[in-house]
Amino acid sequence: MTQFYRDTYAEISLRTIEKNIQTILAGLPAHVKMMATVKANAYGHGAYPVAQTALKAGADFLSVALLDEAVALRKQGIYAPILILGPIHPEQIAIAAESDIHITVPSLAWLQEAVKQKLTSTLHLHVKMDTGMHRIGLQSLDELFAALYLIQKTDHFCFTGIFTHFATSDELSTSHYSNQLNQFLTYVRQLEDQKRLPPFVHCSNSGGTLRFTKEMPFNLVRIGILMYGLEPSDEMVSLMSPQIQPALSLYSRLTQVKKVKKGEHISYGYTYEAQEDEWIGTVPIGYADGWCRALQGASVLVEGHYCEIVGRICMDQMMIRLPFEVPLYTLVTLIGTNKDKWIGARTLAHHMDSIHYELLCLLSARIPRVYTL
Ligand SMILES: *Cc1c(COP(=O)(O)O)cnc(C)c1O
Repeated sequence: MTQFYRDTYAEISLRTIEKNIQTILAGLPAHVKMMATVKANAYGHGAYPVAQTALKAGADFLSVALLDEAVALRKQGIYAPILILGPIHPEQIAIAAESDIHITVPSLAWLQEAVKQKLTSTLHLHVKMDTGMHRIGLQSLDELFAALYLIQKTDHFCFTGIFTHFATSDELSTSHYSNQLNQFLTYVRQLEDQKRLPPFVHCSNSGGTLRFTKEMPFNLVRIGILMYGLEPSDEMVSLMSPQIQPALSLYSRLTQVKKVKKGEHISYGYTYEAQEDEWIGTVPIGYADGWCRALQGASVLVEGHYCEIVGRICMDQMMIRLPFEVPLYTLVTLIGTNKDKWIGARTLAHHMDSIHYELLCLLSARIPRVYTL
């Protein structure tokens, strides 16, 4: 942990991530491996420490979104297989090959460009099938077989995986999910019939994994939000094991405590008026930390009491209404537990009309990360 002076910090329990992964693995058939998704700085938790922890806990694979993220992990000494889930430029495939980074085939047109590149080492390709999300992926069986033909006849190209991604795996209603699953299964069965199945067949993110059954012919799951201890969506709360616990907490301290008279206003734009004489605390976190202005009106915890964020959230600071006078530098819990009370990232995300994935990714590099084992 590098030294820091500010009062605001995120605390990440690597032990909790390890336990979450062990719980997820225990729920999967033995032949199914886990890919730990550490894109976007591991959803704000820190890509390198999380990658190390995930591998130690039993994950066999890592995934990221960008070539830059994969190269950074290699430079830090992570040698496990890494898949880049998003498309990279065809001209960049040699960089991936040299670092033994697996890449995604996002379309047939992309592959037709990629085969023109000269490679000197093996390039592991995972062919993405678009089964309904319409983000990236090949569109049909014809495209799949055309792609396999190109891969097979190109030096150093290796057909290592086939996968798809669900658009609605986090919804309790399964009709769209089932359509996508069945579409993917038809591709898998065709490959099986022709004895051309690659080593890795994967389709489930966290939401899909909560639905995984022993019969599914897949041998890898791509886990993100679940290993950080959060449910994929509100609807999935009922499917969560109580063993899965959030790994990230966010804390600060009151840097000023004062009494404000009834009728006085708080912060930019005077959007809040004290309804009576009120105790107001100042907390050194703001939108430059990724603590969005839309969180005005949400609550944080002080001494086990929920305290409303009053007035506009500024770039570096915000104000909260306290139930009574508390000492300067009293701990403020923004995410996590305080005494017997708890605030989850999901509850906060509701205030931003968003999801906890976004809230966590927004926590900026200015917030120090403190790791506990
Ligand atoms: C981000 C991502 C995942 C992980 O999703 P979670 O919902 O966090 O489990 C899996 N697969 C792909 C293709 C992704 O982009």
